[in-house]
Amino acid sequence: MIDQSLLTGIPWVNYIGGEKVAGEGSAENIVNPATGKVILTLREAGEEQVMGAVAAAHRAFRQWSSTTPAHRAGVLLDIAAVIERDGRQLAGLEALNCGKPFHQAFNDDIAAAADVFRFFAGAVRCRQGQLAGEYLPGHTSMLRRDAIGVVASIAPWNYPLMMAAWKIAPALAAGNTLVFKPSEHTPLSILALMHRLDGLLPDGVINVMFGRGETTGAVLVNHPLVRMISVTGDTVTGQKILQAAVGGIKRTHLELGGNAPVIVCDDADLAAVVAGIRQFGYYNAGQDCTAACRVYAQAGIYPRLVEALGEAVKSLRFGRPIDDENDLGPLISARQRDRVASFIERALEQPHISLIAGGGAHDGPGFFYRPTLLAGCLQQDEIIKREVFGPVVSVTCFDDIEQVLEWANDSEYGLASSVWTRDVDQAFYLASKLQYGCTWINTHFTLVSEMPHGGLKSSGYGKDLSGEALQDYSVVRHIMAKFDGRFPSRH
Ligand code: NAD
Repeated sequence: MIDQSLLTGIPWVNYIGGEKVAGEGSAENIVNPATGKVILTLREAGEEQVMGAVAAAHRAFRQWSSTTPAHRAGVLLDIAAVIERDGRQLAGLEALNCGKPFHQAFNDDIAAAADVFRFFAGAVRCRQGQLAGEYLPGHTSMLRRDAIGVVASIAPWNYPLMMAAWKIAPALAAGNTLVFKPSEHTPLSILALMHRLDGLLPDGVINVMFGRGETTGAVLVNHPLVRMISVTGDTVTGQKILQAAVGGIKRTHLELGGNAPVIVCDDADLAAVVAGIRQFGYYNAGQDCTAACRVYAQAGIYPRLVEALGEAVKSLRFGRPIDDENDLGPLISARQRDRVASFIERALEQPHISLIAGGGAHDGPGFFYRPTLLAGCLQQDEIIKREVFGPVVSVTCFDDIEQVLEWANDSEYGLASSVWTRDVDQAFYLASKLQYGCTWINTHFTLVSEMPHGGLKSSGYGKDLSGEALQDYSVVRHIMAKFDGRFPSRH
């Protein structure tokens, strides 16, 4: 059952240097967006508490960074095992806190979180690099990859535990210690996991602070002993993080917004496109930085696509009492729902845009917005230019490939994109020219732990997942030894 009973037995506190500590800052309500009701009230970590958490991580760094990859891999595997063992409770908390269907939280988020810990446990034991050798006569050079220090990790609310795994696993594997701050909207799953990890990690290796960005988060990222800041969030938040990093020349790892173009060519498999956009445009109520939201359909397929997609979008289910029947949940907050609504209102003021499906908040409890499809959009429209971050897909008609490439790349964002065509030449030409961290061909959205995820332009930089993340959470160092190049004669 997705109800308050899931809260029982867990101390809803911060984790500082191995201690469970109630927050000393202001009280914040944690709300279930599916009902609009308060789940519980938590006090934020106060300034002194954040200072204490960074100090604890700093103290733990020397010992943790000196452990072997095999040792750290063992700990990561233990964490993965706990996530899997208690997956149903963790998924329940995720469903309660985000309003998302339980079956998606369990089958997708929790499974992926465990897999990420497992992947980094393996990856850290088989890293590769340049050969040691004499690049100057009489001097042997070798490279090391070392941990950076205390990492401040800050996560968003769309996939709370999975985002925590993306941030914690590579940072720990590389030998860093962390102070992790979940979104103020969605702290439940990581606090519950920390309770279950009791005693598994040395004190101070992972510290978790509850609080808002402008309070707890700002103190954390400005702390002088923080050597790296890793944030997934809005582009404006990324800019604030960069400003905080300037003073201490801190490393930054920024996964920011997105507005993914989806290019559908005349020869695409219409049924596959419709099924793909129905799933990948509206999954998690579109609150996904890679959501298939900005569709460009070639003139020959455009009318059929709009009609078929309209019917498909109308079939999306939400708010039903039987969880397995739901395809999507609500927006995270009333504010987010109202923001999405205002995008649609402004879009529909444009005479060339038509509402094909949805439009409007759902009558009833919670912050649901009806899955929405807009057609007839033009490149200069706000709905095309900005990230909506809701269950909204727009369709624009294009004539030729060079035109759509220009439109697709005409964006501040550069995270994800997709191309749908049966023509291999066309697919690889488009993929080679799209300025996005990822381009899918005849699919969208699918991520694997082995491959990097991250953006270009205002979508940020730094990669999550894959061996690339281990590089990002470590520093390369050169060791050079001088030796006497003359060898004693054998005779
Ligand atoms: P947000 O930027 O409002 O918050 C993200 C996190 O940053 C939260 O924990 C918040 O408390 C913290 N924060 C905010 N201001 C801060 C400050 N001044 N100092 C320190 N911390 C601060 O984003 P959100 O609303 O939680 O998430 C939605 C955004 O995240 C969207 O723009 C989405 O595209 C982006 N996102 C990107 C990716 C990716 O991989 N690129 C993944 C998920 C979400």
